[in-house]
Amino acid sequence: MSKARIATTWLDGCSGCHMSILDMDERLLELAGKIDVVFGPYVDQKEFPENVDVTLVEGAVSSDEDLEKILKIRARSRLLVSLGDCAVTANVPSMRNSFGPKKVLERAYTENATLRPGPPQGGVPALLPASRPLHELVTIDVFVPGCPPSADTIYYVLNELLEGRCPDLRDKSNFG
Ligand code: SF4
Repeated sequence: MSKARIATTWLDGCSGCHMSILDMDERLLELAGKIDVVFGPYVDQKEFPENVDVTLVEGAVSSDEDLEKILKIRARSRLLVSLGDCAVTANVPSMRNSFGPKKVLERAYTENATLRPGPPQGGVPALLPASRPLHELVTIDVFVPGCPPSADTIYYVLNELLEGRCPDLRDKSNFG
């Protein structure tokens, strides 16, 4: 049987959700028998590949680069998992939404800068007017809330998807 092609990535997130993926510990070895990780921070692959079976995305959509990425990821993934509260609700990144991008950039790069204050001149993705949860931009197949979701939850979700089932996160006895 061929292995499932799995990808993970993060947009505007802190990488904590990816730490939870690593927290699956020895269960990663068991998963390695069933999956190929074809994209993510754990593999050296620059371009998001075609024909991915399941993609787990951490973080909100906050910049034009995030938007470009999530549209490409959606087009190339059979199942898209919104992983963690930043992806599901925009969570921490959305704390800047009431101020607007200009004020946020001034605060970060001028008011709080001691060395060469001023907004970045190129090389930094432009902020969108607001940080937004993934489902406002693309269709999501599975929502996995939590900040971060536990390793047990992620393990359960992945196994259910690999078995062709829809994970039921309402019943916590499903994942310890
Ligand atoms: S949901 Fe929590 S752990 Fe995950 S990226 Fe957001 S802040 Fe970090």
